[in-house]
Amino acid sequence: MLSNRLYYNFKPYLPWHLRMVMRRMLAWRQRLVCKDTWPINESLGQTPEGWPGWPDGKKFALVLTHDVEGSSGLAKCRQLMQLEKGLGFRSAFNFVPEGDYETPPGLRHDLVNDGFVVGVHDLKHDGKLYWTREKFSENARQINRYLKAWNTHGFRSGFMLHELDWLHELNIRYDSSTFDTDPFEPQPYGKQTVFPFWVPKPQHDGGYVELPYTLPQDSTLFLLLREQSSEIWLRKLDLIAKHGGMALVNVHPDYLRFPGEPKSSRTFPVERYVELLNHVRDNYAGNYWHATPDRMADYCAGIQKKQVKPNGAIVHSVSRATSAKAGSVLKGKKAVILLFSVYPNDARPRREAQALVRQGMEVEIICLREHDSEAISEITNGLKVTRVPFNHKRSSQARYYFEYGAFILICAAKLAWRSLRKRYDLVHVHNMPDVLVFSAIVPKLLGAKVVLDLHDPMPELYTTIFGFPPNHWFVKLLKFSERRSIAFADLVLTPNIAFKNLFAARSGPPDKIHIIMNSPEREIFSPRQYAHNPSPAESVFRVMFHGTLFDRHGLDTAVKAVAHLRQRIPNLQLDIYGKRTKYVERIEQLAIELGVKDMVHLHGKKSHREIAEAILTTNLGVIPNKRTPFTEVNMPTRIFEYLSMSKPVIAPSTIGIRDYFNGDNLLFFEPDDSVNLAEQIAWVHDHPNESSDFVKRGRNIYKNHLWIKERRRFVTLVADLFRA
Ligand SMILES: [Zn+2]
Repeated sequence: MLSNRLYYNFKPYLPWHLRMVMRRMLAWRQRLVCKDTWPINESLGQTPEGWPGWPDGKKFALVLTHDVEGSSGLAKCRQLMQLEKGLGFRSAFNFVPEGDYETPPGLRHDLVNDGFVVGVHDLKHDGKLYWTREKFSENARQINRYLKAWNTHGFRSGFMLHELDWLHELNIRYDSSTFDTDPFEPQPYGKQTVFPFWVPKPQHDGGYVELPYTLPQDSTLFLLLREQSSEIWLRKLDLIAKHGGMALVNVHPDYLRFPGEPKSSRTFPVERYVELLNHVRDNYAGNYWHATPDRMADYCAGIQKKQVKPNGAIVHSVSRATSAKAGSVLKGKKAVILLFSVYPNDARPRREAQALVRQGMEVEIICLREHDSEAISEITNGLKVTRVPFNHKRSSQARYYFEYGAFILICAAKLAWRSLRKRYDLVHVHNMPDVLVFSAIVPKLLGAKVVLDLHDPMPELYTTIFGFPPNHWFVKLLKFSERRSIAFADLVLTPNIAFKNLFAARSGPPDKIHIIMNSPEREIFSPRQYAHNPSPAESVFRVMFHGTLFDRHGLDTAVKAVAHLRQRIPNLQLDIYGKRTKYVERIEQLAIELGVKDMVHLHGKKSHREIAEAILTTNLGVIPNKRTPFTEVNMPTRIFEYLSMSKPVIAPSTIGIRDYFNGDNLLFFEPDDSVNLAEQIAWVHDHPNESSDFVKRGRNIYKNHLWIKERRRFVTLVADLFRA
């Protein structure tokens, strides 16, 4: 978040009291807004699927941790250690390796000897640990040195910042930088569970255990909110005990006031903490598993090993827990959707908008008006559409950017004006352009959550369309805008794994970026929708392409492949569906030159229904994409469209597609290689039975991404913004 960066940059220059006054003002509002989800969020208690319970049949678990922030905290470690020991508890002390103090090896040694645990807390504790991926990797190498030197495998970031995907670079068995619910932290997205969970390393066996803290931090309760009793701790602990979860608390020795110390607004009486420990001892004796975080991590890693599922049921349970009650969270909330294109043509914004309407939200859309036939304002399917009259001409690049800029200003002004009369809870912005997200500035300042939906990565798309070199100033500008836009948004959505990886690697943070796939519309792309159910004619072997007719879609490769097959499959026919473009003339010319004009048929633009019917009468679909920076990472929905109609499809072997399919469930060809494409077409022609086996296996992948499933994930992600 931009505001976080500003804060950490200026923090060293702001006096502590001023910082606290600012934070208290924010916290006061935060507490009102989040009163249903903090400190108690009733829906957090769900037991993970496949959860075997705690060791020895204990009802719940208790984990105590301490982050030592400065030298005053360091000075109190031994006192705190004696106090806990006296009450029969053991905890973990996390030290900052390169902070304001140096941890005496003797202290670490004594802690471990007495059954306590030592962990690494951040590196410098300056809020900059995760600023860029490169910087983090550098930091990770340093942290790994300290982990090794201190003989520990536990970590927690400063300020509870977290990028769980990045933490795989650390040699850790557990991390504890997240929480179930805590709207007061700079990264306020809670994990929505009071159970530990497994964070799998992508494409590898390993991973680590994440231990979210589930009782509020002492600093939040006693310094920020100035609570006078431990009542909130006790209440939350009772709730966790009731649900059989893990109570994990973080108490800072720096903020503890032991008897005899002078009163100060920077400390709170140690009695509050003792009350918590006594409450557990007195009310739950024999019923709880008291573990240090390393033992907790070992126990959970053991469960993980026994799980059959690759991602682990513990992890699955986290998203499961969050899917509950999305409707009740979103009902009655006000959303506005910004779209620099016409509505309702594009399925993605339309279906997402309708998903929000289904949850009982009040939804408006601001989009372009390209034709006089479109109403300037209308209410359709429960949502209000406002069309901005815009002579949208893609005549020149300059004109295009002018239009982008004008539309952003118009949207920003409209939202600012409307915000005077009503409060938006959500602004959902679709790219392109990415920077349209900044239109949401006024609603965001007034508390609205901002979702940025990145349909396509602009740098790759523009590099591909205009042939810019990768270091072109304009590509750099696009990357810069992307980074800023993602930082500005609260949630980023994108349609496939490769896009997400791309955004996370250069703009981060991965935690914020989620995949909602573009799945074909079942009302159109399902054979059952067509009563007469046409099927391919016997006399021809029809190969089909549909989509926009651009150079990158490689129709020339397809036409060349047809020419290679002229002798082998004389009844072959290539049917091309799509709006006429300049590129089509080149394709026609090529077909004449190669002597296959009679085999290539151009059908022009068709409706989705007509496309679906055409698919039914075809033998094979092709996605003849060239290899470009954009097509390399794209995952064409057309693959799903053919599979949904039970047709074989040949796709290019690119990263974006290989993230979902492999050589067992999809037919691949090498992009730009027309001979290879011809071979694959011939194989399908010669092997109808084997081809339909491919279709069956491919359909299993498709079925994992039906829109009903994607929609549920979308709604849950949006609801989480309000639960955090
Ligand atoms: Zn800290």
